[in-house]
Amino acid sequence: MKLLEDRIRRDGKIRPGNVLKVDGFINHRIDVPFVSELGREFYRRFENDGVTKILTIEASGIGIACLTAQHFGVPVVFAKKSRTSNLSSDVYTARVDSFTHGTTCDIVVSKEYLDPSDRVLIIDDFLALGNALMGLREITLASGATLVGAGIVIEKSFQPGGKLLREMGMRIESLAKIASMTDDALTFEEE
Ligand code: 5GP
Repeated sequence: MKLLEDRIRRDGKIRPGNVLKVDGFINHRIDVPFVSELGREFYRRFENDGVTKILTIEASGIGIACLTAQHFGVPVVFAKKSRTSNLSSDVYTARVDSFTHGTTCDIVVSKEYLDPSDRVLIIDDFLALGNALMGLREITLASGATLVGAGIVIEKSFQPGGKLLREMGMRIESLAKIASMTDDALTFEEE
């Protein structure tokens, strides 16, 4: 998506450890009309898939998921990160290693908010190693819901998550795919 690639080129900041910062328009200050356009593009790609819920993970996925859900007219459910092991029978949980923080946490969704009749679209800001997406997939499947696919704003396709999850049969639509990244430059995959 050219609009997004241009914005990443202009305002994205490369940090050590293969981290791209998009704090100026997505992850800290949110450019609402811009992110809403990303949501419209996700809608265009998944509008015929009967999506009934959008699932994301706190914190940075929430804004993107909400501005996407407006186009679909469906609710957003976000997985909460819990540092303590939550063994309650009222929740679905999955263990996720954090790419940016180097920590592990359990992510938790109340059983009340996902059910077998749901058709779930997962939305997240980044795809790197695939851990976050894997955890959200696990929770969706545990609920008996149908996983329609995942919409990712920025996939770093030089990292293995996308390939791994597509090989597992997940449909992943990424709005920008970064093919390579060095300390001072990045290149996008051709559409
Ligand atoms: P994964 O679980 O696929 O390794 O990483 C995805 C999660 O880590 C995303 O939810 C995102 O919050 C974070 N993440 C991964 N790579 C980056 C990055 O380059 N920049 C930022 N800002 N977050 C990232």
